[in-house]
Amino acid sequence: MYNPKSLKAEEFICHEEILETLDYAEKNKNNLELVDSIIEKAKLRKGLSHREASVLLACEDEERTNQLFDLAQQIKKDFYGNRIVMFAPLYLSNYCVNGCVYCPYHHQNKHIPRKKLSQDEIRREVIALQDMGHKRLAIEAGEDPVNNPIEYILESIKTIYDIKHKNGAIRRVNVNIAATTVENYRKLKEAGIGTYILFQETYHKESYEKLHPTGPKHNYAYHTEAMDRAMEGGIDDVGLGVLFGLELYKYEFAGLLMHAEHLEAVHGVGPHTISVPRIKRADDIDPTQFDNGISDEIFAKLCALIRVCVPYTGMIISTRESKEVREKVIRLGVSQISGASKTSVGGYSEEEPEEESSEQFDVSDKRTLDEVVRWLMGFGYIPSFCTACYREGRTGDRFMALCKNGQIQNCCHPNALMTLKEYLMDYASDETKKIGIELIKKEIENIPNPKVKEIALNNLEQIENGKRDFRF
Ligand code: SAM
Repeated sequence: MYNPKSLKAEEFICHEEILETLDYAEKNKNNLELVDSIIEKAKLRKGLSHREASVLLACEDEERTNQLFDLAQQIKKDFYGNRIVMFAPLYLSNYCVNGCVYCPYHHQNKHIPRKKLSQDEIRREVIALQDMGHKRLAIEAGEDPVNNPIEYILESIKTIYDIKHKNGAIRRVNVNIAATTVENYRKLKEAGIGTYILFQETYHKESYEKLHPTGPKHNYAYHTEAMDRAMEGGIDDVGLGVLFGLELYKYEFAGLLMHAEHLEAVHGVGPHTISVPRIKRADDIDPTQFDNGISDEIFAKLCALIRVCVPYTGMIISTRESKEVREKVIRLGVSQISGASKTSVGGYSEEEPEEESSEQFDVSDKRTLDEVVRWLMGFGYIPSFCTACYREGRTGDRFMALCKNGQIQNCCHPNALMTLKEYLMDYASDETKKIGIELIKKEIENIPNPKVKEIALNNLEQIENGKRDFRF
């Protein structure tokens, strides 16, 4: 029944295969010979299968876990260098017809204020985001065919891309909206979106149906097969994710990897990103009501394993996580983080009174973008506002090729430095600017190709003189 090439949800995310995998992992978790051979295989940096990965997740041997963490750090360094891409979510509308029991936007919630941004309000939000220095957004909306039809989403994307305010520009709009049709995915592609992100929430079908009791999202197969439709519609950068806390994390982890294997098997390219959200407190949602919450230690192990199992996939950590947790997992392979996020509709341009909050969930990391940027640089990371790949057509397997050929240091690295310089010139505080200029000076030396280095140096000088938007 299990078939990674199948286009049927129950066949590529096969319940029996997951149960067998978990059983195999449990039986072999103390088989250190096997564990060591899997770690050796992981060192080849070609990834691991869901079965192999599940054995590592089950293994509780401290020495092996530390080896895994070291390997995740090393792979992260080799493939991604020390860049961390910055983004922010933008909530367009919290109207929703679904009944997701973990989300305060669920249809039965009659007291949360329902808001939908007009195009003018979107402009205000985007200007506020641009004034912080953001260049990359992830737009978010509830599912509501009447209030949030695809035309509204497309119009909003156009509005966002068209806003030119001072030196600001949103250069990449990623989209996190409910599963939709091939035709709508095609329209999103034509509108110039970056990644299409859709969290599976849970791969466990029975739980999925209970957690989504009403609305179109109840349909497990339609939701699980969404990425195949997105790819059929021409979107080749898709972002997966599990909402950790809903189901047993070992089950979810195996399902997540099977999903990645399925995309690779059918479309020849795996997920562009994987997100690892955990359930947070929200309006009428109490995370302790969900039995499967995971500790920070398990969370870190999951992040490290994702890095090792799918080395070419970006990993995203949102402000659901605290500064402390983010600090820990960034080292283990995270490549993208959000900064200064608001999860309310309209929250960037106007502070909402608490009793009228339209927030989707509580944010743990409430620092400003300037603080996050400075904090990252303090650890030697390069905060990157780069959006070059998709604008240069390096999506899907073309991006993966760049990664696999080790050309990131000659391409992403200088792009990160140039976009950081733009940020420092236009938005940073004096202290952040000082630290950033020093960092760029040091990091420019790490561009291997002398010609690329020369061009980058010249571009950095031009940025100083007011020019913007250079890229390799
Ligand atoms: N409505 C869209 C859908 O159906 O996929 C996606 C947008 S929703 C705004 C983004 C994600 O927020 C959801 O996929 C879910 O995983 C996450 N989310 C919902 N409630 C949450 C909570 N209480 N804590 C943390 N994350 C939550």
